[in-house]
Amino acid sequence: MHLDPHVAIAAVSTLAAAWLMVTAGLQKSALERRQRRRVCPSCGREIQARVCASCAG
Ligand SMILES: [Zn+2]
Repeated sequence: MHLDPHVAIAAVSTLAAAWLMVTAGLQKSALERRQRRRVCPSCGREIQARVCASCAG
């Protein structure tokens, strides 16, 4: 089985691009998860959703 160098280069670059996208996505989700940990200014409880469930609900 002969492997075409062009195919190999294309496969490697595709894998590299996919790996970069996955790494960037993981960093972005980790950042959003950290930023989403907020405390309600009204009651002081930790907000899990966009708004405080205790005050807005
Ligand atoms: Zn609240």
